[in-house]
Amino acid sequence: MTSSATTHHEPRIVIIGAGMAGILTAIKLREAGYRDYVIYEKTDRVGGTWRENTYPGIACDVPAHLYTYSFEPNPEWSHTFAEGPEIQRYFETVARKYDVLKHVRFNEGIPTCRFVDGRWHLETSTGRKDVADVVVAATGVLHHPHIADIPGLSSFKGAWFHSARWDHSVPLEGKRVGVIGTGSTAIQITSALVDKVARFELFQRTAQWIMPIENETFTDADKEEFRTNPARLAAVKKEADEYFQRFSSAVIDAESQEMKDIEAACLANLENNVKDPVLREKLRPNYRAGCKRLIFSSDFYTAIQHPNARLVTEGIECVEPGGVRTKDGELHALDVLVVATGFRADSFIRPTTVLGRNGVNLDDVWSDHPVAYLSISIPEFPNLFLLNGPNGPVGNFSLIQIAEHQVAYILQLIEEIRAGRCREIAPKREVTREFEAERTVAAKKSIWSTGCKSWYLDKHGVPASWPWSRDRFFEVMAKPELDAYERV
Ligand code: NAP
Repeated sequence: MTSSATTHHEPRIVIIGAGMAGILTAIKLREAGYRDYVIYEKTDRVGGTWRENTYPGIACDVPAHLYTYSFEPNPEWSHTFAEGPEIQRYFETVARKYDVLKHVRFNEGIPTCRFVDGRWHLETSTGRKDVADVVVAATGVLHHPHIADIPGLSSFKGAWFHSARWDHSVPLEGKRVGVIGTGSTAIQITSALVDKVARFELFQRTAQWIMPIENETFTDADKEEFRTNPARLAAVKKEADEYFQRFSSAVIDAESQEMKDIEAACLANLENNVKDPVLREKLRPNYRAGCKRLIFSSDFYTAIQHPNARLVTEGIECVEPGGVRTKDGELHALDVLVVATGFRADSFIRPTTVLGRNGVNLDDVWSDHPVAYLSISIPEFPNLFLLNGPNGPVGNFSLIQIAEHQVAYILQLIEEIRAGRCREIAPKREVTREFEAERTVAAKKSIWSTGCKSWYLDKHGVPASWPWSRDRFFEVMAKPELDAYERV
């Protein structure tokens, strides 16, 4: 039922998380004239994933000029693919420029959120209580480290840590370093470290397809041109955008020509750039390119052929005080062990306890797998909006582009509240069920469904991703269909 009330109501809005999406939300709320909003950030700095991940070699494999807010182009990017610290500086600069910082309460996480009497009651990690009309969860996707359950890991006598918890106090020079995993993270670490350590061992459980990229250095002259000629900057962005447009239409259709072209490029990369036939076979994946998140790298194959490097493909038996023992009985003696085994990709706003209408617990609602209407909102959890939430196009194209479209959509829902047309807005159960059923069918056609293991898959083996085109995503995000929502 839609209320006929027209009273203007200034809603209080809580944003959880001051990473890319939280900063963006604050900027867009201010732009839309909202005055009463706060960001709770559990740490002492903005930046999200770029603050947390500081491993050697960290970079974004989406071209920097595309991985940039549309309203804040950055002529200063140093390379096509910017490194982590440079991206972190970008977010800090934007947050300062748009006066976001004064809205951030640092070192305050949100352990609980309860919807009681039409409003969200939050308690922060410092015991502060807050009551809000709207909660925007900008809590990231690949956020909570997954530490592989490898027997004996805690017995290791050297230093060990997860890639997202890099211990910079541990010296690496002259050391024997092992890395477990061959995801995007481990591949970047490999390229960065092989020639800086005494010995580098990469423990590979599954080989990866590697898409070659060219990482251009932008000279001072390039940057000056970008500063003075916005059309040139826009052209660089457009080129990257068109590349990703092809990639995002390829991944949703395993049989597409674009996907076959990507596979051919990866295969040629392997054949042409790995000389030793034994190593080449070890690096050859036995599933289709793109089934796991594609790895973009200009230098991994060079790095793994470095005299210091060794690719270990025997399975890991256990970790012992002196190193990693593989199933063939060999002990790989190590001083430092990096666990680059990824993230728990289904957490989203959790571990926050979120209780919706009548105390319904989000953990129970999501006990099978996380579901959200258009990846943004959940029945019985009114006025709670998720950015980069479940089953969105994470990995299909720039996460910033995705978040910008989602924020624009969410602002239109919040406007319903501000304009007094309703006090609570949540998607209808039936609409959400139908959406999820349709999404599941489409997801089975995607490249992620072609028979590999990856963080894209839910426990039923269904890709937890947006299975349609980028254009369809943009169209859907352009204007909410209010009939899909229950408004009271
Ligand atoms: P990931 O892709 O989930 O890779 C985890 C790796 O750990 C896999 O190679 C996996 O092997 C291995 N592993 C897990 N458990 C293991 C075990 N018990 N024993 C041995 N190996 C084990 O994690 P990630 O590399 O951190 O990357 C996660 C995602 O973050 C990426 O896919 C990407 O979307 C994003 N990322 C992006 C960038 C960027 O440049 N934009 C950079 C880094 C990460 P299996 O393959 O056999 O499961």
